[in-house]
Amino acid sequence: MRKKIVAGNWKMNKTLDEAVALVSEVSNMIKDEVTSDVQVVLCTPSLYLTTLKPYLEGQTRIALGAQNCHEKASGAYTGEISAPMLKSIGISYVILGHSERRQYFGETNAQLAEKVNIALANGLTPIFCCGESLEQRQNEIHLDFVRTQLTEGLFHLSPEQFANIVIAYEPIWAIGTGLTATSDQAQEMHEILRKHIASHYGAEVADNTTILYGGSANEKNAAELFAQPDVDGGLIGGASLKSREFTTVVKANK
Ligand code: PGA
Repeated sequence: MRKKIVAGNWKMNKTLDEAVALVSEVSNMIKDEVTSDVQVVLCTPSLYLTTLKPYLEGQTRIALGAQNCHEKASGAYTGEISAPMLKSIGISYVILGHSERRQYFGETNAQLAEKVNIALANGLTPIFCCGESLEQRQNEIHLDFVRTQLTEGLFHLSPEQFANIVIAYEPIWAIGTGLTATSDQAQEMHEILRKHIASHYGAEVADNTTILYGGSANEKNAAELFAQPDVDGGLIGGASLKSREFTTVVKANK
């Protein structure tokens, strides 16, 4: 049985006080209202992770994650954060290859393969993002494009390593735009990705891989998206910044 996950991607939002308030609220709401075994991951700005950790003491259902890490363990990379650093503060997840990183910071599949390696070597679970642009979808090259992102970013891993990967399918045209993929579009791509994983790692590994949907998922559409057989949860941007809405999304992943 694969894990159900709802991850919040806060991106570059919230001051420290706001971050503490949001984590506290989410923690209380999840404690009181969520009975299912869904795993919640809060990917806050890395700067706040150490401060936020004590606010989740005793909260088994919520983990903290970073939004990126560097592909090298240490060195002269001004402004960067490494996987060993995240490990040293007890972080368990890291988003890798978000389309904003690919688009604005030029991250390539080859570089992401290295980031995946160092994350795994430090006990972090990568949430590996993939997804096509609107133009690619209109030109009907989106399926191949997303399959290639997986092949080049992940398929060098052994099956044992791959078992620690979470995939997030995030069509770029749906991120922050209010344009959500329909549940059929999400299901179609998730099924194709699972088959692609099966073609390389076999059906059992593919069956056990958690594949999240991301892109304007919110309290209104989450239940329908999560009800699709190959959608195992969500990577939530805008809707993760409000405790009530985010908790409603978490509760939709039954
Ligand atoms: P969104 O962002 O939910 O605001 O569209 C999702 C993401 O970028 O992870």
